Amino acid sequence: MSLFRDDGIVLRTQKLGEADRIITLLTRRHGRVRAVARGVRRTKSKFGARLEPFSHVDVQFFVRGGELVGRGLPLCTQSETIAPYGGAIVADYECYTAGTAMLETAERFTDHEGEPAVQQYLLLVGALRTLAAGDHDPRLVLDAFLLRSLAVNGYAPSFDDCAKCGMTGPNRFFSVGAGGVVCGECRVPGSVVPSREALELLGALLGGDWETADACEPRHCREGSGLVAAYLQWHLERGLRSLRFVEK
Ligand SMILES: [Zn+2]
Repeated sequence: MSLFRDDGIVLRTQKLGEADRIITLLTRRHGRVRAVARGVRRTKSKFGARLEPFSHVDVQFFVRGGELVGRGLPLCTQSETIAPYGGAIVADYECYTAGTAMLETAERFTDHEGEPAVQQYLLLVGALRTLAAGDHDPRLVLDAFLLRSLAVNGYAPSFDDCAKCGMTGPNRFFSVGAGGVVCGECRVPGSVVPSREALELLGALLGGDWETADACEPRHCREGSGLVAAYLQWHLERGLRSLRFVEK
């Protein structure tokens, strides 16, 4: 029997039996972890109230054997709230949908349970804090999180220099398959020509330049979101496909 302590963000909860839940967390030191929390669905369970999606919690796990992830699910025996981001996030519909997309993306980028994903964890904590603070448009906070998640997982898009030959930007053509903007020489079939403003916005979001991002016009924000969504989907689909090949 071993005890583990870690802090993490609650990504998801699922019902288990009459009163229990399986809690999925992205933790600081152990990556994605699933654990059973007993009795948390009883109405007076303060323990259960703390273990809701978006919450940043400090958790104690109890597990058979010497590893947190491996033989059976650990039990989550104690939790303390570090920051209850859920309260502010679920109160606003746009915040809620942006936050939900963040939790889902964080889960998809951490395929292997128990494998540390510190940068992804830190990005998620920072993004939820920013979202809950309400200082920026939730869609921009989401797009910044998605772009940086792609970057820390090895898929950093380029919005300035050519993604293929490195030619100094700005470059006009954009291709998800090529890794971002490409020059006229490297242009591939299916490349699109986004507005300069949308590309500047995405570069600003990736680099954390909120002054530029906040000043962006709504139509360019929408255009940028479309590019981010296409880029993310392309990489997630290929990532999952390659994972399936590995499993076979
Ligand atoms: Zn090029």
